Amino acid sequence: MTNAWDFQLELRSDPASTAARTAVLDEPGFGQAFTDHMVVANWSADRGWFDPKVTAYAPLKVSPAAAVLHYAQEIFEGLKAYRHEDGSVWSFRPELNAARFRRSAQRLALPQVEEQDFIAALRALLTVDEAWVPATGSGESSLYLRPYMIATEAALSVRPANEVLFGVIASPAGAYFETGPKPVSIWLTTSSIRATPGGTGAAKCGGNYAASLAALAEAVANGCDQVAFVDAVERRWLEEIGSMNLFFVHSDGTIVTPELSGSILEGVTRTSVIDLARDLGHTVVERRVSADDWRDGVRSGEITEVFASGTAAVITPIGRLAWPDDELLIGDHTANHGVGPITATLRKTLLNLQYGRIPDDRGWLT
Ligand code: PMP
Repeated sequence: MTNAWDFQLELRSDPASTAARTAVLDEPGFGQAFTDHMVVANWSADRGWFDPKVTAYAPLKVSPAAAVLHYAQEIFEGLKAYRHEDGSVWSFRPELNAARFRRSAQRLALPQVEEQDFIAALRALLTVDEAWVPATGSGESSLYLRPYMIATEAALSVRPANEVLFGVIASPAGAYFETGPKPVSIWLTTSSIRATPGGTGAAKCGGNYAASLAALAEAVANGCDQVAFVDAVERRWLEEIGSMNLFFVHSDGTIVTPELSGSILEGVTRTSVIDLARDLGHTVVERRVSADDWRDGVRSGEITEVFASGTAAVITPIGRLAWPDDELLIGDHTANHGVGPITATLRKTLLNLQYGRIPDDRGWLT
């Protein structure tokens, strides 16, 4: 298809009242309330993509034999729309999400959505549900956008499905840290593996998240917020947190992040932090980092700050690492609520860019 999808508009006659919408926007939480509409488009092996539309947000009608329910042929994306001071609404590097969606589709044997169609779908939903993008005055609130693709063909044979649905839903999101960033605790697991060489770790597919949940439950049972995974082969090289990439700040200002191993998800925030940190004068190194490097570096004072990056929480300081035998505190917990200065600066810079408080010299906003 050369022209971007032309969305048919099936607007609902009973959208949420202003009072109901305001009640949600006053306390959005994360991923619980959804806007009035959603995007759907269908694909079949015979016809390609057809019937893209914006329609009322409602349950999907899916066969109990749909391939996605049995074989998890599914991918998704996550990005946000931000309202600027002048009322305008912007997304942050959506072309990187479009590209990652295409890579994920390829890995899961799903059809491709062109970048222009992916972005047209976001634009179509945002145009109709613009009132659901929280006001900038509410701090770090945004409208979270969730594109996804599922295999809908009712067929129990194991093969790439011939019928697929693409959709976008949107959910108002409050500030991840309501009272300012606060360091989180990470549980280091070496018994549970998220992704393997040649597997699907670099794709954003539901199965990766299903595979991470038992370890997350273990983390929570051990008093931690999130879990960090190591590589599948040697079980010592750090990969990522369940839904965030990892960064280590060294005492000389160098910033180190695990290199893309093929089983790590290439975060849009990760890419942006690397670029911003370099612009701020830091040397940024992508290389293998072991769990022992982390522990030894913190103990010796060589590693001064650790943080994680992702769309949901932007940059999250990590203040504690725990594992079955022991635990370790990271950074200075007496100053700035335990948020290291370089972590704080990068976080602020990225947020200022996303919310239009500093010029977008790099052309990252759409
Ligand atoms: N790793 C995983 C496994 C994730 O799910 C996410 C969230 N998409 C990230 C890293 C961070 O990616 P991004 O910066 O694009 O949100």
